Amino acid sequence: FTVLALESSADDTCAAIVNSDREIVSNVVVKQHSFHEQFGGIHPMHAIWAHQRHMPGAVRKALHDAGMTMNSIDGIAYTRGPGMAGCLSVCSNAAKTLAAATSKPIVGVHHMQAHALMPLLTTPDISFPFLTLLISGGHTLLLLARSWRSFQTLATTPDESIGNAFDKVSKMLKIPWGKLGPGAALEQYCLNDYDQQLPEIIPPLPSGQPGKLAFSYSGLHSGVERYIAVRNGDLDDPTKLALARAFQTAAVGQLEEKLLLALHWCRQNGVVIRDIIVSGGVASNKFLRRRLEFACRDFKFDDAAVRLVSPPQELCTDNAVMIGWASMDRFLAQDYDEYEIETRPKWDIQELQ
Ligand code: ATP
Ligand code: FE
Repeated sequence: FTVLALESSADDTCAAIVNSDREIVSNVVVKQHSFHEQFGGIHPMHAIWAHQRHMPGAVRKALHDAGMTMNSIDGIAYTRGPGMAGCLSVCSNAAKTLAAATSKPIVGVHHMQAHALMPLLTTPDISFPFLTLLISGGHTLLLLARSWRSFQTLATTPDESIGNAFDKVSKMLKIPWGKLGPGAALEQYCLNDYDQQLPEIIPPLPSGQPGKLAFSYSGLHSGVERYIAVRNGDLDDPTKLALARAFQTAAVGQLEEKLLLALHWCRQNGVVIRDIIVSGGVASNKFLRRRLEFACRDFKFDDAAVRLVSPPQELCTDNAVMIGWASMDRFLAQDYDEYEIETRPKWDIQELQ
């Protein structure tokens, strides 16, 4: 079964072709990062316009790269939600119109479910139940996945996402992003070094709610903000680097703590975990992956260690391959959506069934 999938829930316009033999036939991602830099974040109206400009070309390129026409496509998948309403309407309308014109079935996909299931394509031996840490621009979620469509939220954030905190701190420190985007630029910046020793007088940065299965990132970014404000925004390079590193360590420290709490929760509730999947845009941070692997190395269920799995970097950030892949079980079960269904900008992953 061959699926053409479209994604436009945030700032990337994506089209991809995936089949039920786990083949990524083509994968097109048109990024807007450098364009949005001038606004200091995603400008909603410009994001919609950019999706409108790029979607037709992305679809043509996905078909061209695959050497296919619409005749070889069996179904069309798209991101139904959650995401920015105006942005979602671009992929939704494109998918439905293409489907209606060519008499193909459609499936509207949950964006976070797609992030969570992506590793099942690249790492076939993962079995349910598994833990999923979804860390992106819009989400900081720790989920227990029991099946393709059954997810329980163990921890989330009432305020800010980790990706947002990375973005804000990166901007406060005036780290240039270029093509990388602010979060990845901060990670890159932390790899810098100076001959002189870095200052150690970094204030303790708040780390969410210790001991609770809940994230919180607004305190962390305002901690950095205050540190800069007290110094009238005037930081020398070594202090700036020390602050960036302290932020990254604190942000990742919170993930380490909550992940261990979740593993204990699973053990107490008789849930045996073999795999922890770390996905979403922030999962491409290599420092973070190393730290999480280290934190989990001694945790065992029935003497078996848990394995930390992340999709390849280009499949961690938004893409349409994950949308096509997450639609596959429904296409194979002929569980299609009606052409009339609406988008769902707000959509709790626990409501999937
Ligand atoms: P969502 O998937 O929740 O709708 P989104 O589409 O904005 O949100 P993604 O594209 O999955 O999220 O991830 C983008 C986020 O990941 C941004 O906040 C970006 O700064 C962050 N990010 C990307 N690479 C890195 C990195 N190496 N280190 C830290 N953060 C990163
Ligand atoms: Fe995403």
